[in-house]
Amino acid sequence: MAFLKVVPLEKALEVINSFQLEPKIESVPLSEALGRVLAEDVASPVDVPPFDRATVDGYAVRAEDTFMAGESEPVRLKVVGEINAGDTPTVELEPGESVYISTGAPLPGGADAVIQFEDVDREGEEVIIYKPAYPGLGVMKAGADIPKGKVLLKRGTRLTFKDTALLSAVGFSEVKVFRKPRVAVISTGNELVLPGEELKPGQIYDINGRAIADAVRELGGEAVFLGIARDNRESLKALIEKGIECCDIVLLSGGASGGIRDLTSSIIEELGEVKIHGIAIQPGKPTIIGLINGKPVFGLPGYPTSCLTNFTLLVAPLLRRLLGRESEVRKVRKKLAHKVFSVKGRRQFLPVRVEGEKAVPILKGSGAVTSFVDADGFIEVPENIEILEAGEEVGVTFFG
Ligand code: AMP
Ligand code: MG
Repeated sequence: MAFLKVVPLEKALEVINSFQLEPKIESVPLSEALGRVLAEDVASPVDVPPFDRATVDGYAVRAEDTFMAGESEPVRLKVVGEINAGDTPTVELEPGESVYISTGAPLPGGADAVIQFEDVDREGEEVIIYKPAYPGLGVMKAGADIPKGKVLLKRGTRLTFKDTALLSAVGFSEVKVFRKPRVAVISTGNELVLPGEELKPGQIYDINGRAIADAVRELGGEAVFLGIARDNRESLKALIEKGIECCDIVLLSGGASGGIRDLTSSIIEELGEVKIHGIAIQPGKPTIIGLINGKPVFGLPGYPTSCLTNFTLLVAPLLRRLLGRESEVRKVRKKLAHKVFSVKGRRQFLPVRVEGEKAVPILKGSGAVTSFVDADGFIEVPENIEILEAGEEVGVTFFG
C-alpha cells in the first residue's frame, strides 16, 4: 500500500536497510579480481620469501669466518660451488668455505651472510675478504617480507593492482569476492534521445542513463542500461518488468512532474508494492521506493544533479551493503567558500566543488548540466538553517 506521504530521509534509509538482500559471494580467478571487493580477510598461506635469500650477487659465507678480516690481513675462503636463482642448494658450508651466489638464490646451509662481489677479490678457487660480515648481511630471511599467516587484506577491500600483485606474491590464483549486484537503469521521458542519435526540436540527450550506470559501476556493481521508457504506461511497465527479470535492483530516473510520477508509482503498485512516495528533502521530494518480487525499485529525480544526489543518498548505501563496503565513508569536512541561502523548513542538498580545504557551492540550479559536472559532491543544509556563512564548516559527501 502506498504511503503517499512525505517521510524524513532517515525513514527512507530505514526502509532501504530493511530490504532482505544478502551480499552474495563468488570465487573469481585472480586475473579478473581487479576492482572487485574482497568477501573475506586474506592471510598469507606462505612465507615470503619462502627461504633465506641472497639480496646481492656475491659470496655466501659463515659470518664468523670473516670476523678477523681487515684491509691489511684479509681472510681467504675456499669457493666450493655456485648457486643461482631457482637452484636448490646441495652444499652445506664447512668452516673456511664459501659459495658464489646470485641475487634471489637460496642460501646454502651453514651460511648466514652474503658479501657483494664488488667488496672482495677472487683468486682461482679462493675469495679474499677485507672486511668482516655480520649475520644477516646481504640476506632476506624467510618470511621477512611477508610472514605466513599475516592478514594482508581485509574483507571489503576494493582490489587495486597493488592488491592483486600482493595476492600473486603469496600464490593465490583465485579469490572470494562479493558478487556484483546487477542494477537495471532506466531513463524516462518523451524528450530524451540517446547520444549518437539526431536531436529533433524539443529533444535533449539522455544524461542520467550514463551517469547512473557508471556510478553503479564505480561503486563495484554491474549496470544494465535498459534504455529510455516513454511517458506512457506500456513503455514504462515493459522496461520495469524487464529490469525485475534481469536484475537485483531497478533504478528509474525522471517522471517527477505532470502526473507521470503517479504512473510509475501505480505500475510499481500493480507489480509489487510502493514503500515510500515522497521524502522530505530537496531535491528529491517525489522520490519513489518500492519492492517488486523482493527487488528494490527506485524512482529518482530527472535533473541530473538531483538524480545523482539521490542516488548517492539512497542507492549507494544499499550497493555498498551488497558489496560489503558499508564502512567506507565518502565524506570530508571542508570550509564553505561563500555564503549560501536556503529555505527555512526545507532540508536541502547543495552541489559543491572541493578546492583544497574549501567547499565551493555551485549555484547554477539543479537544471544545469554543468552544475553536476562541476560538482564533486554535495553538502546538507538542515531544515532549521536559512543561511550558511562563508567559512562555516560543512560535511561534503562525494557523489557515488
Ligand atoms: P521529470 O522529472 O521527468 O519531469 O524531469 C525533470 C527534468 O529533468 C526535465 O527537464 C527533464 O528533461 C530532465 N531529465 C529527465 N531525465 C533526464 C535524463 N535521463 N537525462 C537528462 N535530463 C533528464
Ligand atoms: Mg520526464
